[in-house]
Amino acid sequence: MSDKFRVRFAPSPTGMLHIGNARTAVLNWLLARRYGGTFILRIEDTDTERSSAGSEVSILEDLRWLGLEWDEGPDLGGKHGPYRQSERGELYRAQAGNLVERGLAYYCRLSDERLEAFRAESLAAGRSPVYRGQFSGPNEKDAGPQPPAVRFKVPEGESAWRDLVKGEVSVSHETIGDFILLRADGRPTYNFAAAVDDRAMEITHVVRGDDHLSNTPRQILLHAALGGPGPLFAHIPLILGPDHQRLSKRHGATSVREFRLAGYLPEALINYLSLLSWSSPSGDEFLEKERLLAEIDFERLGKSAAVFDQTKLRWLNGRHIRSLDPDRLAGLLRVFAAERAGSFDKQRWELVCLACREKIELLSEIDSYLDVFSGRPPEIEDPEARSLLAADEARRVLSLMASILREAGKDDTEAMKALFKTVGQETGVKGKLLYMPVRIALTGSMHGPDLPMIMAVLGARRCAELLEAAVAG
Ligand code: GLU
Repeated sequence: MSDKFRVRFAPSPTGMLHIGNARTAVLNWLLARRYGGTFILRIEDTDTERSSAGSEVSILEDLRWLGLEWDEGPDLGGKHGPYRQSERGELYRAQAGNLVERGLAYYCRLSDERLEAFRAESLAAGRSPVYRGQFSGPNEKDAGPQPPAVRFKVPEGESAWRDLVKGEVSVSHETIGDFILLRADGRPTYNFAAAVDDRAMEITHVVRGDDHLSNTPRQILLHAALGGPGPLFAHIPLILGPDHQRLSKRHGATSVREFRLAGYLPEALINYLSLLSWSSPSGDEFLEKERLLAEIDFERLGKSAAVFDQTKLRWLNGRHIRSLDPDRLAGLLRVFAAERAGSFDKQRWELVCLACREKIELLSEIDSYLDVFSGRPPEIEDPEARSLLAADEARRVLSLMASILREAGKDDTEAMKALFKTVGQETGVKGKLLYMPVRIALTGSMHGPDLPMIMAVLGARRCAELLEAAVAG
């Protein structure tokens, strides 16, 4: 596909960026980049009661944090702007007027109450409740004191399309009543604004959640009325919670912001969210951006609903943490450790991060590993640790190690590794009895990040002091 491949992400700014919408954004972005196309951000803010400028700002911020940079959008502009529907009113009014002139839509003064009554009466009488303009009043703009709404005249027949995920879909128009395009106050409805904009913005593929499937026949009808073929559609299955119900607050975090604050990386979210709709032909699940971009394909978009698996997302996050560039990791972990990071100089902090990255799955977990780097004489509470430390071999190891550290005074990880070799050879002590007493003497714990790295962070002198203190007991 070429630069004529144009997709859009079209959020309604009515709250935080939801993880399900982020999945839609991720797919559109990946597909745009994969096919050398254009990724457009359009803000669907025609619902003035529920939309807010604050939500728009936060959605843009979360998209940027995810790294889903767009090519055209409300902040960047572009050849089909403006990209906020609230600023495109003229276009919708002109298009609606045009449909009325061509007899494809009509002015309508039917009240909501009257429409409800019509439906209830029809059902009671065993007739179809589908509305066909019976009570809309004269088809004239200026026939009454209030301006009329504009309603689309649904023709007979059916709408059929080949969905790129669902396959062949067809919906009979018998089930689709004439629907509103413009409300009496001049605001467009979602379906009308979406169809007008998808045409105006030359969208070639609409990739969105299958909760929009029921809108598609209306949009296809509108594309036909507005002048010809519209975009292709791909409806991706919704994300479900572990109980197979639609993912919601009940299942825990649902906004991108919550995941970000909990210590997830954007690369892990992109990786995981893409896997909810797609799989790599290799079967691999840990996929960095380059691989996603090289392998994503319409042909491999899945048809079945995906269950959100937080354990897998955490695991992927750990994998992405371990493959981060050390500089970036140190910067990110500094934010999560806040003032506790301040007690380490740059070089030591990088070492702390490298030691901890093997252990953590979330950036926020850094905090629970920092104690072992404090250099404070540890409290040793575990009876097993106490007895290991009291063993004769342990005392020999600790004493010899302390004296070498005092003399040689080398602080780097490699020197610390070599030290274990020397002390092991000279004392004849091996394995757990060699390492564990040192770990306990330095950190008070039998578990933790890589020991030579901890020692390098503490420095030769501080290590010697702590080992001596443990021997003196
Ligand atoms: N504004 C709609 C939503 O947030 C977008 C639907 C579409 O992609 O057509 O769900």
